[in-house]
Amino acid sequence: MMFSKKEETREPYSVEQCDACKKETKRKFKDGDYVFKETSKCPSCEGLLRIVKVFGEIIKAK
Ligand SMILES: [Zn+2]
Repeated sequence: MMFSKKEETREPYSVEQCDACKKETKRKFKDGDYVFKETSKCPSCEGLLRIVKVFGEIIKAK
């Protein structure tokens, strides 16, 4: 077993949404991320990706 403790770990994630095609992408949180921040260009159109949600996902040690 890799984890000896049974604590829950939270992994932060950011959800980006494209202004144009509304496609949502979940990715790991990066330093400096905040909701409504414009991040990059959409990979499937020329729209602008914006962070719509930042949340912590519980990762249970197995
Ligand atoms: Zn798009």
